[in-house]
Amino acid sequence: MGITEADLRWWLSGYDVSQVMIGAVASHSALQILHGAKLEGFRTLAIAVGADKRRLYSAFPGAEPDEWLMLDDYKDLMTQVEWLRKKQVIIIPHGSLVEYLGADNYSKLELPTFGNREILRWESSREKQRQWLENSGCKTPKVINDPRDIDSPVIVKYAGAKGGRGYFIARDYRDFRRNVNLDEEFTIQEYVLGCRYYLHFFFDPLAEDGYQVHGIKSNAGKVLGRLELMSMDRRDESNVDEFYKLGSLRDLREMALEPSFVVTGNMPVVLRESLLPEAFRMAEGVVSTSFELEENSRGMIGAFCLETIVTDKLEFRVFEISARIVAGSNPFVSGSSYSDINEKGMSTGRRISRCIKKAIETGNLNRILS
Ligand code: AMP
Repeated sequence: MGITEADLRWWLSGYDVSQVMIGAVASHSALQILHGAKLEGFRTLAIAVGADKRRLYSAFPGAEPDEWLMLDDYKDLMTQVEWLRKKQVIIIPHGSLVEYLGADNYSKLELPTFGNREILRWESSREKQRQWLENSGCKTPKVINDPRDIDSPVIVKYAGAKGGRGYFIARDYRDFRRNVNLDEEFTIQEYVLGCRYYLHFFFDPLAEDGYQVHGIKSNAGKVLGRLELMSMDRRDESNVDEFYKLGSLRDLREMALEPSFVVTGNMPVVLRESLLPEAFRMAEGVVSTSFELEENSRGMIGAFCLETIVTDKLEFRVFEISARIVAGSNPFVSGSSYSDINEKGMSTGRRISRCIKKAIETGNLNRILS
């Protein structure tokens, strides 16, 4: 069984909240998380395997943690929980933490963590994600169940593929047969042609002003909290982003080259303003539906990202959702075109610490942790 609300209350009852430390695995978005935590006045702790990480962070004194927990293997974190709780640590989860520990271990990690870990289970299944997004009123790329039905470009995603590695594009059934590895599980999605926007939102269940999200179904009529748009990025993907320079897909095939989608970095973008209402409508749907994902769901808490493509008809297709801070928020350590409007210099990492700080002040820590 995973962590319950009773476990969380029990751990927090032993915390001196004036001494809380913000902890993160030193990877992914940790520079931003630790920097933001320091700005909000928290002590910080980083977790790493290998001394080179520690050396790297010495290059960024503004994010250097007050303490390090050095491990031989990330899985050893599971045995360090008591020590971390004595240090009053709250862990900020990010993609690397979940990947290094494994989703199963992460769900059993006996430490207060920011956000709702139950939601991360929904995030980790493509089919569950699709259900959630569609119930939220987001259009997702069409799924092709029978490869013989491929009649326009598709993207084939293997079940275990991560960070865009291991996808391929097929123009027709023949193409698909030539490239597919039938021993692996895969999903075939319509290839959506358009521009990619990765929308970074923050949902604060404790804030009572701003863009308030309303509940549906079991929460009908309830005001659930405030939705904020923090920033937006586009990923640099190698090699597809530079592929066109060598000619058409056909030319490239003749050179035995296939596009790949491996993330190498991120760039800041903004959306034309007339698309913002739809972006908020989708995000609002995702938040209100998150409270209905299962019985008594605690819903979304904190950072999440909608990964979208906008077509030339100015329509969004959402191809993925992340229910935590994403590395695409890293260009915005000192704020973004959106977050600066509300408060200068507010990164997602800092916003997380601000949320924790407010929760401590109002005695609501248990509402934003799991
Ligand atoms: P993902 O692992 O789902 O985040 O996808 C990795 C990359 O593959 C994205 O950033 C896009 O460049 C591309 N991609 C994924 N799904 C689609 C789609 N349905 N249509 C077009 N491109 C896609």
